[in-house]
Amino acid sequence: MMSRHDYDLFVIGAGSGGVRACRMAAHYGARVAVAEERYVGGTCVNVGCVPKKLMWYASHMRDLFAEAGGYGWLVGPRDFDWPAFRANKNREVQRLNRIYDSLLEKAEVSRVDGHARITSRHTLDVGGREITAAAILVATGSWPRMPAIPGIEHAVTSNEAFYLDSLPGRLLLVGGGYIAVEFAGIFDGFGSRVTLSYRGDLFLRGDDDIRQALYKEMTAKDMDVRFQSRVVSIEREGDEKITVFEDGSRETYDEIIFATGRRPMTDNLGLESVGIVPDEFGAIEVDAFCKTGVDSIYAIGDVIHRMELTPVAIAEGMAVARTLFQGQPVAPDYNSVPTAVFSQPPIGTVGLTEAKAREEGYRVRIYRSRFRPLKNTLSGSREEALFKLVVDDASDRVLGIHLLGTDVPEMLQGFAVAMKHGVTKAQFDTTVGIHPTGAEELVTMREPD
Ligand code: FAD
Ligand code: NDP
Repeated sequence: MMSRHDYDLFVIGAGSGGVRACRMAAHYGARVAVAEERYVGGTCVNVGCVPKKLMWYASHMRDLFAEAGGYGWLVGPRDFDWPAFRANKNREVQRLNRIYDSLLEKAEVSRVDGHARITSRHTLDVGGREITAAAILVATGSWPRMPAIPGIEHAVTSNEAFYLDSLPGRLLLVGGGYIAVEFAGIFDGFGSRVTLSYRGDLFLRGDDDIRQALYKEMTAKDMDVRFQSRVVSIEREGDEKITVFEDGSRETYDEIIFATGRRPMTDNLGLESVGIVPDEFGAIEVDAFCKTGVDSIYAIGDVIHRMELTPVAIAEGMAVARTLFQGQPVAPDYNSVPTAVFSQPPIGTVGLTEAKAREEGYRVRIYRSRFRPLKNTLSGSREEALFKLVVDDASDRVLGIHLLGTDVPEMLQGFAVAMKHGVTKAQFDTTVGIHPTGAEELVTMREPD
């Protein structure tokens, strides 16, 4: 039956969640359009996961060159050419933009360039053009948030960090979340002298032992990591940025990146026209099926501020497409979502931390393995890995897997499948390891603490 609207679904934002929702909905036979005001592919493709991971690879080359000698390779003089890397990275991002464009085109999703604003339950305005839709999906993502301290205009965010004119000799990162920690390792690898300033006692969230071990590894690499540290103002003298800390100390940097969280993007979105009031964090509130208080309007991804991760935005987008066009409500499943921090070394984590499991009343067994990977025997690297399993003593179920070390994000995905389906420690024990790997440590941890 033809809808009386221009489209069955209008999606605002062609990022991780929006693009997937468009493609799925079109696949189910819906007439779909999407508005994008900035860049197809959204944060992840343009200023997030993808360029970040390319920078992470690039920054690791320094260690590879340093470690090559132990394996008998003579490596000559080396220098990191940031503009050359940046140009290659930008080319790859543009290639991905084109791929996203063609995915939408092949799915017969209409593209509308420009800023979309909701004007009523079924209407939107994009650049003065009125569009009607049976359902509207808000997938507008998020934007960096900076504190309003004097001189904040002299600092930049992760958005600009991807496009810096030159590599900063002295770099200050403010924040203790994923982005601050990832960029600290990346720029350290590029050769910047990195300082990380975090206002809390220990950066990141998650398992305490893993966070402590990462702190140790970062300081071993000569990064200056400061906890209980607060920036109160910034001044500019020529190209230099003078930072004043709460204890009165003043330090000079070439660049300052604030990675102090992100706010849901609802600017000029017209939410007030339909009576949607963002919560105290600025996020759009939705029910289990990602539906807002208005029946025809759904929201997914960073703008609902549940888990700011690309695979989660994608899962939410698919759930909404199924709910709307397959006749059966589907709620996204947030249980046992694995995640990685691309620090150096990286962290992989899924399930409950030891502290959280105890808080929830579990009596837990903790299995721990700290080891120096085989590769590091000849490489000369002193980096160690730490693997930790949190097991429910009563049922023997594995409640949490927490890993720090080279390649752990690649390792974790398979173990996350097992955990999602209720794997027990006994089942880990009956699985034969793959030798010699770091991953085999996960199936050979015999004695709890
Ligand atoms: P986005 O992907 O941000 O898409 C929103 C889109 O909507 C944007 O393109 C925007 O231009 C558009 N838009 C907004 N308002 C309007 C409007 N009114 N009209 C038209 N268009 C509009 N996640 C991971 O899983 N792994 C990682 O390694 C990872 N690394 C990250 C690194 C960084 C530096 C950052 C910043 C984020 C990272 N993330 C990572 C998080 C991930 O990028 C986000 O969770 C994900 O992109 C959210 O998807 P989304 O669809 O909600 O929004
Ligand atoms: P996070 O929310 O993870 O961390 C923000 C950090 O900034 C916290 O340490 C917070 O401290 C601190 N902070 C907040 N406000 C202030 C302030 N006014 N002054 C000083 N410090 C402040 O945000 P990020 O920006 O790092 O990343 C956003 C999200 O993007 C992440 O949560 C993650 O979901 C996603 N992401 C995922 C990645 C991945 O999957 N590998 C990589 C990068 C991002 P406090 O703890 O004290 O509140």
